[in-house]
Amino acid sequence: MELLVRARQVPVETIDLHCIKASGVELLVRRDDLVDEQLSGNKFYKLFYNIECAEQLGYRQILSFGGAYSNHLYSLAAAGKRLGFATVGVVRGERPVILSPTLLDAERWGMRLVFVGRADYRELTQTSASLAVLLSRLRHELGGFYCIPEGGANLAGAQGMQVLGRALDEQLQGKFDSVCLACGTGTGLAGVAAALGGTKSVLGFSVLKGSSGVDAGIGSEVARLTEQLVTTNTGQADNWRLISGFHGGGYGKRLPPYLQRFWQTFEQETGLQLDPVYTLKMFWGITRLAQQGYWPKGSRVVAIHSGGLQGRRGFTAPNGS
Ligand SMILES: *Cc1c(COP(=O)(O)O)cnc(C)c1O
Repeated sequence: MELLVRARQVPVETIDLHCIKASGVELLVRRDDLVDEQLSGNKFYKLFYNIECAEQLGYRQILSFGGAYSNHLYSLAAAGKRLGFATVGVVRGERPVILSPTLLDAERWGMRLVFVGRADYRELTQTSASLAVLLSRLRHELGGFYCIPEGGANLAGAQGMQVLGRALDEQLQGKFDSVCLACGTGTGLAGVAAALGGTKSVLGFSVLKGSSGVDAGIGSEVARLTEQLVTTNTGQADNWRLISGFHGGGYGKRLPPYLQRFWQTFEQETGLQLDPVYTLKMFWGITRLAQQGYWPKGSRVVAIHSGGLQGRRGFTAPNGS
């Protein structure tokens, strides 16, 4: 309940982008980058019910996984400091001599960092047996903990994002045609799609370089989650689409010059800041689709600004910030 109250307070604004004017599409942005000062954007929603669940089960410690610039670990660490529970971050890669700004903050906020070499980390994500071995070793060392998958990619995470979808629907009284969001694991896409039933189209712009196998994995995950979220009487949520082709070279990769230029132009024209890993690629995709006439003239398209602005620190962001 409290989450819906918070979600309703997030502003939805119109933005003016020169490059889509001619398409006749009205572009709105839901400012979930403003939902919380540190628990940025969609991670706020994906952590909400996970933290509630951990509390109900009596855990005083939460563990999760991520890379050196992970918005998810950053948000979890911030939540732990604020709400008074211990946090453990299992980080992909060996501990570097100099920590990323993200991990420095996380450690400063009390997160215990456990580094796992890339090959072993891949193994963890692929075979449940090696994950079980690591978790039982860590339970032995650190005591019991509630475990959240990388990126907050579970049913509780999707339920949080479902609340975002509901809030948006109420705020605009259903008067919009399409919702766009940046997609990593697809948890957010599943939640928002389930909230909006079959009437609105929900587009997830994948930031992963689609070897189609990986994309197929996300697609089936979204299908699995929406199926669990949508109750039988509202029917099947088949209102979502995964859009690939706007990943700009892949997850967390150095940006190609055209994206670097778009980033600059977008921020100058709108006064909004974007993160380079997710929202930049979504807005790039939206402008391309609009220019190609993907939406009929007069369509109202809402983009979810899912936050993650701390991730600007790993890149050369516009205005040297
Ligand atoms: C994690 C993240 C996403 C991806 O969300 P998924 O639910 O994993 O698809 C999108 N945008 C931002 C800013 C994020 O931090």
